[in-house]
Amino acid sequence: MQAILDGTLIPVCGYARISKDDERDRHGVNDQRRDNRRNAANYSMVVVYEFEDNDRSASKPDVVRPDFEAMLKAVTRGRTDDGVEIRGVIVVHEDRLIRRPGDYERFVEAVTHVDGRVYADERGTKDLYSEDVETLGLMGAVISKAETRKMRKRARNNHRRRAEDGKVPRGRKRFGWMDNKIDAHPINGPAIAKAAQEVLGGRGMGSIALEWQRKGIRTVMGNDHRVSSVRDALRDPRICGWRRINGGDLIRDEHGKPVVGEWDALVEPWVWEGLDAMFKARSGNTIGRDGEVIPEVDRRAPKYILTGRARCAKPNEKGDPCGAIMRIGWSSVHGWHTYNCPGKQNGGCGGVSVKGAALEEYVTEAVLAKLEEVIAFDVTEAVWESAGEYEEKEAKLARMKTEWTRGGISDDFFFSAVRSLEDELRGLRVERRKFLLSGRTALEGVADIRERWFSDDPDTSLDISQKRTYMRLALNAVMVHPAGRGGRFNPDRLELRWRSDIPATGFVAV
Ligand SMILES: [Zn+2]
Repeated sequence: MQAILDGTLIPVCGYARISKDDERDRHGVNDQRRDNRRNAANYSMVVVYEFEDNDRSASKPDVVRPDFEAMLKAVTRGRTDDGVEIRGVIVVHEDRLIRRPGDYERFVEAVTHVDGRVYADERGTKDLYSEDVETLGLMGAVISKAETRKMRKRARNNHRRRAEDGKVPRGRKRFGWMDNKIDAHPINGPAIAKAAQEVLGGRGMGSIALEWQRKGIRTVMGNDHRVSSVRDALRDPRICGWRRINGGDLIRDEHGKPVVGEWDALVEPWVWEGLDAMFKARSGNTIGRDGEVIPEVDRRAPKYILTGRARCAKPNEKGDPCGAIMRIGWSSVHGWHTYNCPGKQNGGCGGVSVKGAALEEYVTEAVLAKLEEVIAFDVTEAVWESAGEYEEKEAKLARMKTEWTRGGISDDFFFSAVRSLEDELRGLRVERRKFLLSGRTALEGVADIRERWFSDDPDTSLDISQKRTYMRLALNAVMVHPAGRGGRFNPDRLELRWRSDIPATGFVAV
């Protein structure tokens, strides 16, 4: 009792339930009681009251569980009918709580009715105030998909209500604020404010990411910032005190004004509006140095024959080649495309750039010569280069779905991750189909590749994806070394890494 009074032990109620299935397992009420008491001690809790239901006799599925209902009431109020103070609940396993769809939601609602309540089961304590639990909890196998959807919608509506009241959103911490999600972080908050101004003024987000890396400013997960995390931080209207619901429209009051939240704003609304306008103009496009919009190179359907194949060969401090896959850039001064090593913030060194047309022309000639040299190769032997990646992503998706169903990851994270994974898989499937098709074409057309390569006749000329297939069949990579003096294109800068398995013997007559 003294321990409860001086706060070292939290008084909780235990809840036990015997169900029809318990003949087969070990969940007798006595076992559950004993386990609850023992577990409670491990979490600095003490069981001061016990609720118990017996579902074994219940034949009707919608039978009321008197003690479950009594427990909900008691937890909401913070004391039992007998006046015993309780500040939480402990059960052996979450499945004890659930009898019908909706039980769990009601339970979470009761527990989180006021702040500071605790909940634990044999696996440990669980924060029922967090969004993950609220929306997914433990329903897993117990509750039907439809019910899950309904619960999620209700949870969303609840979030919306909170949002309309300007309440701090539940869920994970946000970069820029303290753990309470209300007070600005003394370092990260001002860093965002400074970055917002600078990006509006034309500074690149890559350079912001590098600055933050240098200063040891990390993401909430403790990682180095990248362009993407800087962008995420700056495009979130929360930095000016506003909020979007589900990534869409701003929350507005009945007069159409954005609702101002209870958390510290880091920038003025006009700053965020400026950033938002900038990001919107950019979406799907790349902005050139002079502000003109350059169509983005679609990763799924590369427009250049060496994307993915050209790699940076500039030595790093250890003397090893950088190895980063070069990205397509645009030189608006010259009006041509370039292959560039991505900057440090994107996994490269930024140290090499080469004129695209010159690189492609040289490599094309080399590849055609090589193909003619081996005369033909058996494309049926060729392995789709992304097969491993595809399998990996599929497996990852499956794992995530399992994890999500089990309640291990939040809706927000799950849906955004799944969307991007599924996009990637879709892209890979398109690529695979093209690979198979162009492989067949390659087989048929091996005798006149050169002619078709440069042909203007749309019926016979090779398209980009076919050309890319030849590149892929012949080359593992094109290593591009830094330019020497003069900056002119020099083939000595290139190092062609041929595939070892271009079969010289598998001559195919066409
Ligand atoms: Zn590099």
